[in-house]
Amino acid sequence: MEVSLGTLLRMPGVPVAAIESGTAGTSDARRAARQPGAEAIIQVSDVIKVFREGDVETIALRGVDLEIARGEFVALMGRSGSGKSTLLHLLAGSDRPTAGHVIVGGVDLSRVEESERARLRGSVLGIVFQSQNLVPFLDLEENTLLAASLADRPVDRSTAGEALARVGLGERAHHRPAQLSGGEQQRAALATVLVTRPAVLLADEITGELDSANATILLDLVSEMHAVESLTIVLATHDAEVARRADRIVELLDGRVVGDRRIR
Ligand code: ADP
Ligand code: MG
Repeated sequence: MEVSLGTLLRMPGVPVAAIESGTAGTSDARRAARQPGAEAIIQVSDVIKVFREGDVETIALRGVDLEIARGEFVALMGRSGSGKSTLLHLLAGSDRPTAGHVIVGGVDLSRVEESERARLRGSVLGIVFQSQNLVPFLDLEENTLLAASLADRPVDRSTAGEALARVGLGERAHHRPAQLSGGEQQRAALATVLVTRPAVLLADEITGELDSANATILLDLVSEMHAVESLTIVLATHDAEVARRADRIVELLDGRVVGDRRIR
């Protein structure tokens, strides 16, 4: 069922200004009921995301609640258009919910300034999305060095080179992002994650554009970071084989969580 933003706005108890500013659902009682457990590193509550392009409204998320504990490896599954990428962008703080709360590492991303969200992206989060955060005029080695330094974990050139070699880009260290395919750019982003060692890795379809040999290399690397460093991972995929690497599978359909099961 399609629900227009107009309908949403007319729902009882949801003031228009609150929906617009993303502060709907913040009554003390509701917040208290949804306080995260001590170990929850990600908490999504009552999240609605509406995209507006001219007169067209698309409701990408229709009330998502999700808690992820520190050290969990969660596969976000669901067919194309189900809202996986939208949810990842909200977790990354690169977009804001229309309503509801997204709390990462104790910080409510809907309430803080962009500078604070940027700090979080640089230090707590590792982000491997379809459109990358690589700096276009720097080569891969320089991108890796910059990411490490922004995360306050500076490394030397040889460490940066090793990280690139581990994702199979050892020969491409002096190429710029535009000289790489989409899949290679995602691998380069993963190399920056190897050196920044974030608490949380957010990955969007990292195996989508790769042949299966490279997909296996990347998945092995991600699984190893999870096992060795207790990295918390949220990985969107439509591939059941990829999802089997996770501890838990959360399934989205039409902007709602329709399944949540632990497989390990
Ligand atoms: P998935 O990653 O599961 O394929 P998305 O989160 O990309 O799904 O998309 C969910 C829905 O939101 C889709 O209907 C998509 O068309 C829409 N959508 C996503 N991003 C935008 C945007 N920037 N502007 C308008 N609609 C969008
Ligand atoms: Mg997507």
